[in-house]
Amino acid sequence: MIALELQGRARVFADDVNTDYIITSRRKRESLDPQVLRREDADAAALLHQQLQGEGVRMFLGAHIRQAEKSSVGKTIVFDRGQGVEHVTAEEILIAIGRAPNIEGLNLEAGGVKYHPKGVPVDDHLRTSNPHIYAAGDICSSYQFTHAAEALARIALQNALFFGRKKASDLVIPWCTYTDPEIAHVGLSPGEAQKRGFQVETITSKLESNDRAIVDGQTKGFLRVHFSTEKGVILGATLVSKHAGESIGELVLAMQQKMKVSELGAIIHPYPTQAEIIKRTGDTAMRKRLKPWMRKLLEKMFSLRR
Ligand SMILES: Cc1cc2nc3c(=O)[nH]c(=O)nc-3n(C[C@H](O)[C@H](O)[C@H](O)COP(=O)(O)OP(=O)(O)OC[C@H]3O[C@@H](n4cnc5c(N)ncnc54)[C@H](O)[C@@H]3O)c2cc1C
Repeated sequence: MIALELQGRARVFADDVNTDYIITSRRKRESLDPQVLRREDADAAALLHQQLQGEGVRMFLGAHIRQAEKSSVGKTIVFDRGQGVEHVTAEEILIAIGRAPNIEGLNLEAGGVKYHPKGVPVDDHLRTSNPHIYAAGDICSSYQFTHAAEALARIALQNALFFGRKKASDLVIPWCTYTDPEIAHVGLSPGEAQKRGFQVETITSKLESNDRAIVDGQTKGFLRVHFSTEKGVILGATLVSKHAGESIGELVLAMQQKMKVSELGAIIHPYPTQAEIIKRTGDTAMRKRLKPWMRKLLEKMFSLRR
């Protein structure tokens, strides 16, 4: 994620960064086909992949890194994608393979706070194994983002000092990958929702038919909203657009308020805006609710009124 963001920034600051290589490591237990941004919607990832390739970025997916070498030619990564050994040589190598908690030296043992190499386990109220000590942020969350750390810190503060009973699991936490286009996501993927027992439906609205996107020449992108078949409640969404991170907040609010997808159609947006795609998705949901028998009934009713 961060590697993809940084390569985009490098291009903004220097025109002559014309050879970029991104190599993702293959995890042993990975069963899915490798894709950029493994956690994202496959179509969103494919769109970004295409965009990067169009910019001349070479992508080596599902690679298992064998070694790194330095020579008079440059710095070389040796890797394997199951078809023999391959090499990529560059001026510099940027490694972006995740972060590890910095726990050593905190003497957590003295406070009776349990920890493991990945962080500090907490309960849903953010209490550590010592119920008088709370934790927040990357150290105790699978959402490793600044905004998530802030939201968790607020919960820890309220629960620790003001007798709060707030739960981390109640938070609706979005994230955004700042590529071009941006990929913003909130909530569950269809697979995750199904695992939780939901029957899921999905509506995809393309930016191709959004007037502002056409005027701006930014039609590469879409909004995809997943919702429960039974009640129509929004379960998750992915927005791919130039400034997706700016618009995803509206869907976060909709999810916090447990809104139905069809209710998105009632939110009036100024015209023309790219965020209008959210309203259009609500309209599509409303149309989907119109069963054939209802359509027939309405047709009959209107023909009688003519
Ligand atoms: C390159 C990069 C880009 C990122 N970009 C984004 C982004 O665009 N958007 C986003 O949402 N997130 C981004 N993140 C993630 C984001 O930075 C983290 O999720 C966020 O900083 C977590 O906040 P935190 O308070 O848990 O930890 P930190 O921000 O790491 O804060 C921990 C603090 O504890 C201090 N500390 C450590 N040990 C001790 C000690 N023994 N005694 C006293 N103090 C100590 C540290 O100095 C630090 O100030 C990025 C991360 C990286 C690495």
